[in-house]
Amino acid sequence: MNILVQKFGGTSMATAESRQYVLHHILEAKDRGQGVVAVVSAMGRKGAPYATDTLLSLGLESCGQLPPREKDMLLSCGETISAAILAGEITSAGYPARALTGGQAGILTDTQYGSADCLFVDTAQLLSLLKDGIIPVVAGFQGATREGDITTLGRGASDYTAALLAAALKAEGVEIYTDVDGIMTADPRVVADARVLPAISYSEVFQLADQGAAVIHPRAVEAAMRGNIPMVIRNTLTDLPGTRIAAETLYGTEETESIITSITLMKGRSQLTCPASEAGKIEELLSRLADRGISIDLINIFPEKVVFTIEASNLASASVLCGELNLVPSVWEACTKVSCVGHRMRGVPGVMARIAMALRKADIPILQTADSHMTISCLVPAEDGPRAVEVLHRAFSLG
Ligand code: ADP
Ligand code: MG
Repeated sequence: MNILVQKFGGTSMATAESRQYVLHHILEAKDRGQGVVAVVSAMGRKGAPYATDTLLSLGLESCGQLPPREKDMLLSCGETISAAILAGEITSAGYPARALTGGQAGILTDTQYGSADCLFVDTAQLLSLLKDGIIPVVAGFQGATREGDITTLGRGASDYTAALLAAALKAEGVEIYTDVDGIMTADPRVVADARVLPAISYSEVFQLADQGAAVIHPRAVEAAMRGNIPMVIRNTLTDLPGTRIAAETLYGTEETESIITSITLMKGRSQLTCPASEAGKIEELLSRLADRGISIDLINIFPEKVVFTIEASNLASASVLCGELNLVPSVWEACTKVSCVGHRMRGVPGVMARIAMALRKADIPILQTADSHMTISCLVPAEDGPRAVEVLHRAFSLG
């Protein structure tokens, strides 16, 4: 069977009006003869009654910290509500549909509550529904353990659910419907003249997602790439073609003239600088941070100092560890990491120099840098983050 997985994000599911567009995309594919599996996020964003953040604050208000298993059970409700409502609406439109939780859709996970890993997808139930012409509407973001306990797959992971199901079902494709026209040269909320990219490679979009671009979850890109499933990012409210995510070799060259494809930012970083004379203590600090599951993002080791970056939410724990070791680092609390991604910069000299010059001309200090074959990242003071993206977007003529 020709199967298409379609995922609808929070803003797409938010209102009865926006769900009319959701219905339009599902029924159009169904009428074309495709077996459609819909995957849904919780309705609306922060502040909406059934949004994930609202459920989270409900747990916090009632008893501070919920146990991880109960927290996942609570957070999963948003998607379950969404699935039930949409399945009802599809049925009312005259097409048979069935709402499923992640577990009922066959997503078996480990017991790492909060960011569970999928161990296996049992497609039997989905295939049986599809065979009978029924549209499965799957609650995204969740799975279940062997014991039947509900787990969640990490924030924003409904995209991951969609890609996982598409790969397991050997679908023709997976469509991610959201509130922008596709993957853009930058977040349009940060850069007003950001442009939609007609196509982008799996590896570039993975880098963007991994470096903070919320438009798609990195695990979704990974799952689609592993299953070799073509992925498209589209706007729910339009019929525009969106961005096609394909293997690098399938690229149209005219579409990606600039050496940089897209720029993203990651807020909430903190930078610590320790004098290298304390080398033994620094090594001990790094190993204690690792023991607590605190990962180091950027790190540079110089003869006179060691500089590294962690998530700002881990700064308090890191400070306690420093205190235990009598280590007094200088701290830059509020930083943002700005990352330029582009497969064309591989092996091309001078890109970092152009980035450094553009930021210097805009009086934006670079606190730290890192580069890999297709990504260059610069840490800047948090207040300069959005402007740094704008400046680089202009310097590389991405608009
Ligand atoms: P959904 O609820 O549909 O999953 P998200 O908020 O997770 O939506 O992702 C869509 C948002 O991603 C957009 O509204 C946009 O602000 C943001 N975004 C960040 N980087 C990019 C980018 N490079 N291209 C497009 N959108 C981006
Ligand atoms: Mg999302």
